Amino acid sequence: MPRPIQALIHPAALRHNLARARAHAPDARLLAVVKADAYGHGIERVYPALRGADAFALLDLAEAERLRALGWRGPILLLEGAFEPRDLEAASRLGLWHVIHHEAQIDWLAAHKTDVPQRIFLKLNSGMNRLGFAPQALRGAWARLDALPQVEEISLMSHFADADADAEAEADPHAAGALPPRGIAAACARWLDATAGLPGERSLANSAALLRHGRRPLHQAAAAAGGPRPEAGDAADTLLAADWVRAGLMLYGGSPDHPRRSAADWDLRPAQTLRSRLIAVQDLQPGETVGYGSCYRAARAMRIGIAACGYADGYPRHAPAETEAGAPVLVDGLRTRTVGRVSMDMLAVDLEPLRAAGRPAGVGAEVTLWGEGPGGSRLPIDEVAEACGTVAYELMCALSPRVPVRCLDEDGADPG
Ligand SMILES: *Cc1c(COP(=O)(O)O)cnc(C)c1O
Repeated sequence: MPRPIQALIHPAALRHNLARARAHAPDARLLAVVKADAYGHGIERVYPALRGADAFALLDLAEAERLRALGWRGPILLLEGAFEPRDLEAASRLGLWHVIHHEAQIDWLAAHKTDVPQRIFLKLNSGMNRLGFAPQALRGAWARLDALPQVEEISLMSHFADADADAEAEADPHAAGALPPRGIAAACARWLDATAGLPGERSLANSAALLRHGRRPLHQAAAAAGGPRPEAGDAADTLLAADWVRAGLMLYGGSPDHPRRSAADWDLRPAQTLRSRLIAVQDLQPGETVGYGSCYRAARAMRIGIAACGYADGYPRHAPAETEAGAPVLVDGLRTRTVGRVSMDMLAVDLEPLRAAGRPAGVGAEVTLWGEGPGGSRLPIDEVAEACGTVAYELMCALSPRVPVRCLDEDGADPG
């Protein structure tokens, strides 16, 4: 029998989350971000559910090839553009759109021989200081590109550093009137200033900006229905929902501003489940310890279970080892916590809550590390990430190649 660990991909959840993204920007076109092998879900596995997007965005030429091999004829945007001149050959061959974020990329394009002019996204550095032209350099770059026969169309984009920031992150965010929304005020101001008067389609919003600062009428509808309250100004609606939105995390069911808002608050469903089983049970006497380093010490007699899941499967080794809190986990659908250090192939869970609930668990019990559990139970990946001092993005992407992955049917049924 194979080791009982398994990851599940939920196409129905991907479809649902895609519809949520669209609802937040109904007039915009949607770039589904599938970088890092679709945030660890697998491009081939998510493609049938996400092909309803208007375009895909990723970084890696090999991943773009895989999308083309799946039959995708629509747009694909390379979010970091060319890494070296010959990448432009592949961009031409595969018909890719690409980001231009530094001067050398314009030089490469000027030297690139092609019969088919390319669509490019000129990137503004709006304050993240990772990629993009400084505001004062943007117009010069635009003019250079506009003069190139290799360029068919210039679109404008930027990426927010703080779209998920707390309301308190910026002082008096609404002081100047309707604009700007919280957390992204300075970046929006830079953007409006740097791009004023330049033609071309625009793309700004990631998941956090889309959900938190997207269409106000929808926010109001959501608030009326008991959902998250609106927090953006009117002008922000048109700014952020402009032309192209770039949704990543939310498609996979993560909340970009957890713990402020949960995935359930945003009506997002987990697209990835990591599950395993108990392969052993231990009864501890008071004072006994668990795992490497003997970090966790039982205060009283307790039963623990050993699950077949460790850091070599992608489970975070930084789950709290010593405290009573641990990281959340479900056993047979009931919530409990990890105890002691996570090791390469195993982790320990507290079985006392199950005993207290009159549902003692033994070898073979189902363990849900995150995602959908038995009987309609659910453990948000965001909560596991938070307990381990990281974010859902990292956990999704870290799923190890040794974990067998099964893609569920569209209706969510387990094909067995
Ligand atoms: C990854 C990425 C996104 C998607 O961000 P999410 O927070 O996952 O929605 C959007 N734009 C750019 C440039 C990115 O690199």
